[in-house]
Amino acid sequence: HVKRRGKDGYEFFSSNMKTMVDQHLSLDSGLRRAIDEEQLHVYFQPQIDLRSGEISGMEALLRWKHPEAGYISPTEFIPVAEENGLINEIGLWVLDAGCAELKKWRQAGHNQLNLAVNVSSKQLAQADFEQQVFNTLEKHGIPGSALELEITENVLIQDMDQVINKLRQLHAAGICIAVDDFGIGYSSLGYLQSLPLSTLKIDRSFVSGIRATNNRNSIVTAIIAMAKELGLRIIAEGVETESQHQQLKQLGCPHAQGFLFSRPMPKEQTAQFLNGVELQQQHS
Ligand code: C2E
Ligand code: MG
Ligand code: MG
Ligand code: MG
Repeated sequence: HVKRRGKDGYEFFSSNMKTMVDQHLSLDSGLRRAIDEEQLHVYFQPQIDLRSGEISGMEALLRWKHPEAGYISPTEFIPVAEENGLINEIGLWVLDAGCAELKKWRQAGHNQLNLAVNVSSKQLAQADFEQQVFNTLEKHGIPGSALELEITENVLIQDMDQVINKLRQLHAAGICIAVDDFGIGYSSLGYLQSLPLSTLKIDRSFVSGIRATNNRNSIVTAIIAMAKELGLRIIAEGVETESQHQQLKQLGCPHAQGFLFSRPMPKEQTAQFLNGVELQQQHS
């Protein structure tokens, strides 16, 4: 009995491992092709100013439309791209494609709109990362102040002096730096004072925990208070319900993003969405 269980257990484990390795290998080689065959797309999700109801920015979110497998989540393929080094090329492409759309939106009259782009710690570690960003902005004629780069706390595990140096150069060019998924990392809070940050994005896990009874919201309340004290902008991520929206407003949270307002959209739909917003405002 014991032996058989052990054997089954082993087989289960090994075939599971094999599937994982196969998947990894096909993602790895598939990603190279995805770039060449234009299977990657940038989607955009609006960021809402809760006081005015206006759209303050759009976050660029990468999508991989695989010819056979369908859509593959960035949470699956970004780690692979970080491992095989393709993240640098892919990340730069997202920035370039995002800036191209931002330029169009701004030219269509949404001239206060900002673009937020996720940046992997691997990208930030490249020697010429900031120069690539400056070049891309210049290519599209976009001011630094219209761009926000979203980093996660894991960039702080790297050489801190190098990270600070890079972020300072980006900041000096007017570019905003946001800490994504704030509150779930392992770092101490000291970096909030030593880095030139603009924004904290409250992780979705805290937003989904918001209840109408106020005593459950202490973490969100504390993050908002701390951000105000530090002069940082706050965006709540993953707002899905009207109740969460109202609670966040009551707690004094100034910005939000989530399915309640809009899911991430392809570029054509994003342009239509923005046009609709403009029309609504003109007619009201
Ligand atoms: P993130 O930057 O924290 O992005 C937010 C994620 O939450 C996105 O998932 C978005 O589609 C999803 N989301 C937005 N609103 C809601 C909501 O109301 N409810 C729920 N359940 N989810 C919501 P997505 O697009 O699958 O991206 C996942 C992660 O992949 C991103 O998390 C980011 O870390 C990474 N990622 C995406 N695009 C890029 C990219 O271009 N470069 C890099 N380095 N990472 C990226
Ligand atoms: Mg993000
Ligand atoms: Mg996030
Ligand atoms: Mg996330």
